[in-house]
Amino acid sequence: MVAIKRRKFLNGLMTAGALVAAPRSFAGARAHVVIVGGGVGGIAAARHLATHYPEIAITMIEANPAYTCCFSSGAVLADLRERSSLDFAYDRVRQTDAIKWINARATRIDVEKSVVHLSEQETVAYDRLIVAPGIGLDFDQIDGFDGAAQVRFPHSYVLGGDIDLLKSRLAAVEDGGLVVLSVPARPYRCTPAPYERVSMIAHYLKSHKPKSKILVLDNKDEFPLMDRILPAWDRFYGGMIEWVPLEFGGQVERVNGADGSLVYDGQTIRPDLANVIPPQRAGDIARASGLSADDGWCPVDPVTLQSLLAGNVHVIGDAAEAGDMSKSAHAAASMGDVCAAAVGRLLTGRDPMPPAYDNACYFLIAPNHGLQVGGAYQAEHGRITGTRGFSSAIGETDMTRAATAAAGDRWFGEFTDDLFG
Ligand SMILES: Cc1cc2nc3c(=O)[nH]c(=O)nc-3n(C[C@H](O)[C@H](O)[C@H](O)COP(=O)(O)OP(=O)(O)OC[C@H]3O[C@@H](n4cnc5c(N)ncnc54)[C@H](O)[C@@H]3O)c2cc1C
Repeated sequence: MVAIKRRKFLNGLMTAGALVAAPRSFAGARAHVVIVGGGVGGIAAARHLATHYPEIAITMIEANPAYTCCFSSGAVLADLRERSSLDFAYDRVRQTDAIKWINARATRIDVEKSVVHLSEQETVAYDRLIVAPGIGLDFDQIDGFDGAAQVRFPHSYVLGGDIDLLKSRLAAVEDGGLVVLSVPARPYRCTPAPYERVSMIAHYLKSHKPKSKILVLDNKDEFPLMDRILPAWDRFYGGMIEWVPLEFGGQVERVNGADGSLVYDGQTIRPDLANVIPPQRAGDIARASGLSADDGWCPVDPVTLQSLLAGNVHVIGDAAEAGDMSKSAHAAASMGDVCAAAVGRLLTGRDPMPPAYDNACYFLIAPNHGLQVGGAYQAEHGRITGTRGFSSAIGETDMTRAATAAAGDRWFGEFTDDLFG
């Protein structure tokens, strides 16, 4: 149970019926929805509102001029996907007249005055706000993770170009070198992603530097589909990968950016490359604006994704505490749709509908060898609760795994086309 710092908005917010606001579109004034963060969740919400609620004015505030996907970046490390295929311009979304676009970083949200600050002087007022900033990285939880260490140990776990840094550092590893990848405790963005990354780095090393080793330092003792992934690592990569769970000292205790060393289980090692993925929390703007609880994530009503800590503010995507649902692009888009539908109905004087969320993650263990995991979710007992799950089975044929890999490729194409096309 998360500790809630501010309770004054809680009264009366928990039931969907109590959330209904009077329609704002009176005397010619259009209700105004502002969205902070034009990533997966934010774009999905904006597009849903623009399509279904032309009577609502929409403003998007996005810090970057273009979007770079984290998803499918593993395949870039293995030379199975072009780096440029991760980049998406906002041109098509920006051409939608219904969405006013502000290319700026929101610095603060004043939830009392219902305004978003772009600077101390410049503000944007909202009737309802959707906050979708993704994750923030909690470097302080690992001793020594200062600016120098962040360059020395590229995490490559948020948007932007540092997949290029990780890839160039991988290319510089000598045959016979040691690559370390450290995985944080849950919750973190896309639970299977670090294991896909290990697989893709292993594929690259096997192809180019086959005497190299990978040490996986894990902050937990189990991970989803490990009974399918560990045997597949043995099959495809022989003894190249060693996985060290928490109970055998898998936690990184300290990193040193000056000499490239890291400490785990009382030992100091100096790998040729270390991809240290830090612990995570809601994106900085959500935390700075009082939308997150003590655990670092933003508690939300499961029907509308309205913040439990601020009125007329909704939080979606990775930043939200989403019950049984994983933090993934597919889940963020699903939350964007649910939230936009709820906001649209609330602003036009109707009750929100019971939500239906879904999630699906595809990931590669080797070329043409894919796994999948996902499920369906609804609002139950005050939280987002799984109602159905699916995953790749143990002992599937290579043909099935190849079909899953192809389905993952198709998912990427269709998903990004829906958002940015
Ligand atoms: C290596 C890796 C592999 C992954 N693979 C998959 C996968 O296979 N399938 C899958 O479904 N998911 C995958 N994911 C997860 C997926 O990338 C995230 O879950 C998804 O991007 C979350 O969407 P979001 O909208 O919450 O955040 P984001 O997509 O990160 O978007 C946040 C946006 O907010 C903007 N922003 C932040 N702060 C501000 C501010 N103050 N002002 C203005 N703008 C701001 C950012 O610029 C950004 O555009 C993977 C992640 C990683 C790291």
